[in-house]
Amino acid sequence: AKENGRNLSQFFTTQMNDEANERRALETALHQALEREEFVLHYQPIVDARTSELVSCETLLRWHQPEHGNVYPDKFIPLAEDTGLILPIGAWVLEKACFEAVNWAKKIKNPPNISVNMSSRQFQRTDVVALVRDTLQKTGLDPQRLTLEITESLLIVDDKKIVQQLHDVRKLGVGLSIDDFGTGYSSLSYLRRFPITTLKIDRAFILDLTTDEEAAAVVSAILSMANSLHMKVVAEGVEELEQLNALREGGCDYIQGYYYSPPVPIEAFRLMVQKEGPL
Ligand code: C2E
Ligand code: CA
Ligand code: CA
Ligand code: CA
Repeated sequence: AKENGRNLSQFFTTQMNDEANERRALETALHQALEREEFVLHYQPIVDARTSELVSCETLLRWHQPEHGNVYPDKFIPLAEDTGLILPIGAWVLEKACFEAVNWAKKIKNPPNISVNMSSRQFQRTDVVALVRDTLQKTGLDPQRLTLEITESLLIVDDKKIVQQLHDVRKLGVGLSIDDFGTGYSSLSYLRRFPITTLKIDRAFILDLTTDEEAAAVVSAILSMANSLHMKVVAEGVEELEQLNALREGGCDYIQGYYYSPPVPIEAFRLMVQKEGPL
């Protein structure tokens, strides 16, 4: 048993070292990723639930790291947040997305809007209002076409400075959307205090929507709450026709998910933009 114990503790320290080493290697690589132009944006369609027309998209960050291969955001965003690198990365994402959205408007009459994920750290550590204002000015994007996706955790802190930033961003004409809605803690009265335009129902509820009564109840509560607060609703992670039908019946405004399309590289997304009509 003693020997087993030693082997086990050796195993754990080796494994922990590996993890720490991997993290350090990733961190070093992350520092150079921006200047080496290793980031790309993918775009996932957001469609009108009734007409299936492309009305918007969410930008999702991808890192093509030469040594580690394609690294997904769940792995490097937390690291970028810990190191502060999320600030220059987030600024890059916003600018890239806005320039791209301006390009679509040169080619077609009703170009899709664009949603950009914002880290809470950006609100805590930089002047997001100045960043957004400057980026809109630099790119020439119509503010009405831009939505920032934030998480409930940003609202729960209830920091006066953050609440003020949200109001100021909203005053620029930019939309504000709550990501992964339903997973955090937000009551109706609580939401009213923030200038939110859109709720994005978390994928977990959509996954169980047609098989679990509780998930269905949460979704229908979100839909009626959003309706009475004059907010729009996006359902995330819609993969099945049955889910789509249930959401349509419930009056959900917009749909995002593999049923229509996964996030795709820019070339593929441009083709969808040019096609117009239902997706
Ligand atoms: P999120 O904002 O909740 O993004 C939605 C995630 O769900 C994306 O994962 C997307 O690829 C995935 N997804 C979309 N439709 C479906 C579906 O039908 N089924 C399934 N199974 N998954 C679907 P992804 O691209 O790996 O991004 C993960 C998270 O990383 C995002 O979650 C977001 O929190 C963060 N992230 C991505 N890009 C950025 C960025 O530019 N800035 C910041 N701060 N965070 C980002
Ligand atoms: Ca999001
Ligand atoms: Ca989400
Ligand atoms: Ca998420």
